[in-house]
Amino acid sequence: MIDELTALFTGPGAADYLGEPVTIGAHMRQAGALAEAAGAAPSLVAAALLHDVGHLTGGDDARHGLAGASWLATCFGPSVTEPVRLHVAAKRYLCAVEPGYFEVLSPESVRTLAAQGGPMSAAEAAEFEAGPYFADAVSVRRWDEAAKDPAVTPPPFGHFDELLRGLLRGSA
Ligand code: FE
Repeated sequence: MIDELTALFTGPGAADYLGEPVTIGAHMRQAGALAEAAGAAPSLVAAALLHDVGHLTGGDDARHGLAGASWLATCFGPSVTEPVRLHVAAKRYLCAVEPGYFEVLSPESVRTLAAQGGPMSAAEAAEFEAGPYFADAVSVRRWDEAAKDPAVTPPPFGHFDELLRGLLRGSA
């Protein structure tokens, strides 16, 4: 799994991230580094690092969270896969409840919001808040938005190797 992830980050991950100023691999590594710098638990650092893996395995804008989570679930538990699955919903949530959040979105992120269902309704937002991985999903989303800085050189994928190995199912 780690070899497969390394290959994804260095192969398809080196491609442009549609409309963003960084490659998708650099974007994901930036997000992982931000989570690490914030002192997040290893599983949440992994979720931030891997949040867009669904794009690398062929998921589209609306479904890449689910696609990535399903793909990761063969090796990682819900504390990694759930924030990944929910990070698209977290954008719809933050756009609904947080004044000014929409303004921090990149133009590409605004464009994909429509395909993802637009901002949540009040009822959807309340339901989302009640979920067990709500806070983690929102954290991943904030690192996601902040991880598109072309001036930042994130650590190489190998920096996260040990952390990921420690989270693999059956490794504990
Ligand atoms: Fe992202």
